[in-house]
Amino acid sequence: MNETRIHALPLHLANQIAAGEVVERPASVLKELVENSIDAGASQIDIIIEGAGSQLIKVTDNGVGIHPEDLALALSRHATSKLHSSEQLSVIGSLGFRGEALPSIASVTRLSLISKQAEHDCAWQVRSDQLQPEPAAHPNGTSVSVAELFFNLPARRRFLRSNKTELHHLITTFYRLALSRFDIGFSARFDEQTSIKLSALKSADTYSQRLAKICGQAFVRDANYLEQSFEDIHLSGWVSKPSAHRAQTDVQYFFINGRVIKDRVINHAIRQAYGDLLPSGRQAAYVLYLTMPLDRVDVNVHPTKHEVRFRDARLIHGLINKAIQEAIQETLEKTDPQTEL
Ligand code: ADP
Ligand code: MG
Repeated sequence: MNETRIHALPLHLANQIAAGEVVERPASVLKELVENSIDAGASQIDIIIEGAGSQLIKVTDNGVGIHPEDLALALSRHATSKLHSSEQLSVIGSLGFRGEALPSIASVTRLSLISKQAEHDCAWQVRSDQLQPEPAAHPNGTSVSVAELFFNLPARRRFLRSNKTELHHLITTFYRLALSRFDIGFSARFDEQTSIKLSALKSADTYSQRLAKICGQAFVRDANYLEQSFEDIHLSGWVSKPSAHRAQTDVQYFFINGRVIKDRVINHAIRQAYGDLLPSGRQAAYVLYLTMPLDRVDVNVHPTKHEVRFRDARLIHGLINKAIQEAIQETLEKTDPQTEL
């Protein structure tokens, strides 16, 4: 064979390469599956993790389900129900749209997908090695089971860290997802180590329940709620008072339009707002939500969608900076009822 000639990659190989970007570790699988459940309009999402995710990651939801004839398609590359035209690309409201997660995951695991739509009598199932749908038992909604992560890629499997580390990533990912939607109920079992139940919350005055479970009672006690708007950009959430600084960055959540984001502009705006009030090397704690028109922020920068590009970065920086400064000021002025007791 002439090694200089070009050939198209076989599909399974193309999928495995794409999986390199989407599926870094068990936590990335969990993120993609739960995001799909959220996009499916689920009001309850149940998670089971075994073997720190390398044995089993199972996500069950009560969302709209998948049409039986689309089940195999859901596992094939660039197939999505969420995007129809390039104009839509700039106004993506769903968490997914690339149609890459399920085929990528299926190419490096043993995946089973069971789904039932309300208008059908029975559920149907496909597996990564058996794309012909078979009847199955399942209530309305979808279950995706992902077993034996990287079973066919020993080199990738070796890169997985200890069970303890992978569980930590899984739980952190779960916390982010659970904080992104208070209106969805969650249950999650992480091996024998941790079991968490979070009931769906309808009204904002009950949010501190979930906040306390995820961020700790101390955060709820030490944080101030803030809410600010500029035009159609809204920022809300909780920021800790400067004196409640901590060693870790473990309670730093920033969501843009329901998606958890790590962004330089935002980090800088927050850090600057605390300024000298935060001793060097110490961390603030915050859970913040920015919502803005979909065409003012581009999430299509990276497959994991952790990065964004703002159309008006300076404006966003200014808004966040000012809102946090004001909220911190309030915590400084407020006499803390806890310390007075
Ligand atoms: P994307 O989310 O980018 O569209 P995925 O590969 O994650 O791509 O999923 C492919 C398609 O499978 C989705 O567009 C959706 O139609 C369907 N799907 C996946 N998971 C679920 C689910 N839990 N409930 C309903 N439909 C789902
Ligand atoms: Mg998806």
